[in-house]
Amino acid sequence: MAQRMSCAGCRRVMAIPLTREHIFPVWLRNRVQSTGGLFYRFDENGAIARQHDLDAYKVKRFCGECNNGWMERIDIDAEPILKQLLDDQTVLIATSLSQDEKLKLARWAAKTSYVILAMETDL
Ligand SMILES: [Zn+2]
Repeated sequence: MAQRMSCAGCRRVMAIPLTREHIFPVWLRNRVQSTGGLFYRFDENGAIARQHDLDAYKVKRFCGECNNGWMERIDIDAEPILKQLLDDQTVLIATSLSQDEKLKLARWAAKTSYVILAMETDL
């Protein structure tokens, strides 16, 4: 396969290699791994095509500036909110999170979905 040279985050064509982005931040991987969690990819028939240990679930479609810039800031902003939701199963998002927390959580979900889409397609 030809090396992809444009960043899926900023669309700049890169003269240097793209970096590897973990789909999920280290704290979340550690949290899920401790319960034996795996991430599954399914084929068009819904059968399990592959399963990944979360540490190995990475995509090489983003430049260092994006990976260590806006993408990392979204992860950092969402971390305390996600931890709160994971720790307290009774939290109701609609009533207990502020507008700012909802926005941070929505950004994280959109970013994570985009990263997975970038890995699985030619965005
Ligand atoms: Zn970029």
